[in-house]
Amino acid sequence: MRIGYGWDSHEFKSGIPLKIGGVTIAHPKGLAGHSDGDVLLHALTDALLGAIAAGDIGAYFPPSDARWKGVDSAVFVQTALEQVRRAGYAVANVDSTLILQEPRIGPHAALIQRRVAELLNIDASAVGVKAKTPEGMGTDNAAIAHVIVLLTKQAGKPRRRTRVLEEVPQPVVDAVAESLLESLEPQKRGKE
Ligand code: MG
Repeated sequence: MRIGYGWDSHEFKSGIPLKIGGVTIAHPKGLAGHSDGDVLLHALTDALLGAIAAGDIGAYFPPSDARWKGVDSAVFVQTALEQVRRAGYAVANVDSTLILQEPRIGPHAALIQRRVAELLNIDASAVGVKAKTPEGMGTDNAAIAHVIVLLTKQAGKPRRRTRVLEEVPQPVVDAVAESLLESLEPQKRGKE
């Protein structure tokens, strides 16, 4: 059994789409970032990688790499999930807390829960989505996400030794990411 924790924050910016937990939410401001700025999926990616001690999102998807510009953050989650599977683990459950002044997350929480569950291929009842406002924190123009995951050993699969990030060949990471990019966003990739 393994536990993983991830945290992220992004600043609100006018006139860009707001994506949280893979769900686009109607709001005048979105979250700025090199990718689609999905603060919840970034924290989830770090939680998954952290649980198997396999580095962090920045090491796999550096902002300096033009391939990740504007990309759907689902690609990050699915790449991390693949690393979890290779290490011989499966996701048991996820819990998350969002901290943001607006918009209210309540009306979107069920949709976010279902989308995150879908990305992780687990039941929606195993995904906690909670939200709070940043009382007294002075972070009204930012969205913050905390995510914790529990992994269990996959039955019938011998657990491979967890490799530190430096030992994962970059071509492997690139190949996984490329295939996910193609499967998730064929139209977008075609236009580039
Ligand atoms: Mg981020």
